[in-house]
Amino acid sequence: MKECFRIPTTGAFGDPIDENPSGAMMEAGFRSTGLNWRYQLFRVAACDLQDGLDGIRALGFSGLNLTIPHKITAVSYMEGLSESAALIGAINTILVKEGKLHGENTDGKGFVIGLRENGIFLAGKRLVILGAGGAARAISVECALAGAVHLTIINRTEEKGRELAALITENTSCTAEFIKWVEKVSIPACDILVNATNIGLYPDKSLPDIDYDTINQNMVVQDIITNPAYTPFLQKAGERGAHILDGQSMLIYQGALAVELWTGRKPDPEAMRMALIESFT
Ligand code: NDP
Repeated sequence: MKECFRIPTTGAFGDPIDENPSGAMMEAGFRSTGLNWRYQLFRVAACDLQDGLDGIRALGFSGLNLTIPHKITAVSYMEGLSESAALIGAINTILVKEGKLHGENTDGKGFVIGLRENGIFLAGKRLVILGAGGAARAISVECALAGAVHLTIINRTEEKGRELAALITENTSCTAEFIKWVEKVSIPACDILVNATNIGLYPDKSLPDIDYDTINQNMVVQDIITNPAYTPFLQKAGERGAHILDGQSMLIYQGALAVELWTGRKPDPEAMRMALIESFT
């Protein structure tokens, strides 16, 4: 049998993307399944998304991840969507199958698995989510499907926040309300507070403008930003005694689910975690 020198290629589109740490982690995931696949980062501006997607189809990519600012706009270019991606209205993963683009969302599922791996289960929990973008939508839908009982969405743009709260209330057994983000907004009583905005994403060093005195030691506070892992937001929440969690486990498990979708093989999350930690040092 002739040897095949063509290496299956995958990657991610985003803008900004240069500081995205996923490459080494995803290739470690492939290696842990015995596959020598590639994962490349591509800086693709919002206005170039359609050309970029035509490109991956033409070049025979096996799969693609999407990050800011493409998660919501990419939905309209898909030829198929998973059920939860359709509900979320945003995708972070594309499977290219027989030249067709199928959209999936592994962000929220990765978030839920990450909490579970830290001993936190969503049944009966009340959450407050800062943000209503692609990641916030995925997290909200998957937490509601995993048994959370109430979500409070706090967002700067009223329309997006209201729409997300309505999506949850109308499509799941969880209730949701919207609070408009005002200066030093108070965090309502909850079990889990999540920063799902991009405030604090490298090189930004700013803090979500909330009243940090409304955070207490009974709360789990998670930032989904991974670069830096220990954000100023987590530092402030930690000072108030909250149980803090960084964005790494969500990143690892959303990536592991994408590797499985593209290859049909389950990667080793520990190998992915080690590669991620190494790429930060
Ligand atoms: P989007 O652009 O879709 O959404 C960004 C959200 O942040 C919006 O709700 C936006 O509010 C809000 N926001 C941005 N700047 C401000 C500000 N100055 N004040 C108040 N709100 C603000 O991005 P994504 O949802 O795709 O990603 C959000 C973050 O999550 C990124 O940092 C990304 O790196 C991280 N992420 C981490 C993952 C992980 O695995 N750990 C996975 C996916 C994402 P508005 O609606 O008003 O514009």
